[in-house]
Amino acid sequence: MTATVMDGKGLSGSIRAIVKGEVERLEGFAKPSLATVLVGSDEASDLYVSLKHRACQEVGIRSMDYRFPDGTPEGRVIEKIEELNRDDGVHGILVQLPLPASMGVHRVMERIRPEKDVDGLNPRNLGLTMYQEHGMLPCTPAGILTLLSHYSVDLRGKHAVIINRSPDVGKPLTMLLLNRDATVTVCHSKTIGINGHASSADILVSAVGCRPDFIVGEGMVKTGAVVIDAGTNRIGGRVYGDVDFERVVHKASYITPVPGGVGPMTVAMLLRNTLVAASIQARVGLSDLFTYAPA
Ligand code: NAP
Repeated sequence: MTATVMDGKGLSGSIRAIVKGEVERLEGFAKPSLATVLVGSDEASDLYVSLKHRACQEVGIRSMDYRFPDGTPEGRVIEKIEELNRDDGVHGILVQLPLPASMGVHRVMERIRPEKDVDGLNPRNLGLTMYQEHGMLPCTPAGILTLLSHYSVDLRGKHAVIINRSPDVGKPLTMLLLNRDATVTVCHSKTIGINGHASSADILVSAVGCRPDFIVGEGMVKTGAVVIDAGTNRIGGRVYGDVDFERVVHKASYITPVPGGVGPMTVAMLLRNTLVAASIQARVGLSDLFTYAPA
């Protein structure tokens, strides 16, 4: 068996083209805009923020880049968020994670106006998923759902195993998969018998990022499973996922590559959320091409 490789890069390109068309259609009513806030000097975060600005530029979304040095007090970051909340020219606000350990992520996220929360991490937007409602969906889980939907992966009654319990990936994805009638097991660093859980999954999602200490090998994958690799590991100037792709591709039915799988879908969802935020705030409808729900 050789799995179908899920082309996140290609699908994200199609989504970006639709977003670009909608941004042009909005011209004269609103110019969608995104403000990013980055605290500290983490190299990977710096790269992610730059990629997000480049993506905005490509589809005609205006973007503003606010950076604070290490040691900036939490109150100063919140002041900036409040200022961006009040600014009618800003439709989306993204605070890049991780924040320095001294800051309370939830205290910062809850200050972003829910309508401008294009990363979907304000407690209100996260909480709405519990009620099967859509606020802004977090970008990585939304990207994963969109990929699964694009490849017509049936979720109903299936056993999904997620290796990650973070508030931006594993926890919201758990809720979104449950809402689509999957049965979900969540694993983390303290889980006992993780291989047994993983190898019983019809849909296996890994987002750990600790390679080589943690690798999803073929023994952790059930024959015919759908394998979604959201892990990002930089080793020797190259990017790898969590999954041993070369071996698992011969056991799974579908698999995402790294790079070119979940990563570009995450960025595409950010662009989409920013467009939706602008259309809601400017009270201009989007065309039928553009549906908010990812699946
Ligand atoms: P995080 O908060 O550090 O989460 C990592 C998760 O992995 C935690 O739940 C952790 O468990 C678990 N874990 C760590 N070591 C483990 C082990 N040996 N066995 C099982 N579970 C283990 O980070 P994050 O922000 O969610 O990101 C996780 C990974 O996804 C990173 O590689 C990140 O770069 C990547 N990511 C990619 C995208 C994308 O667009 N492709 C987006 C977001 C994140 P504990 O909770 O017990 O610590």
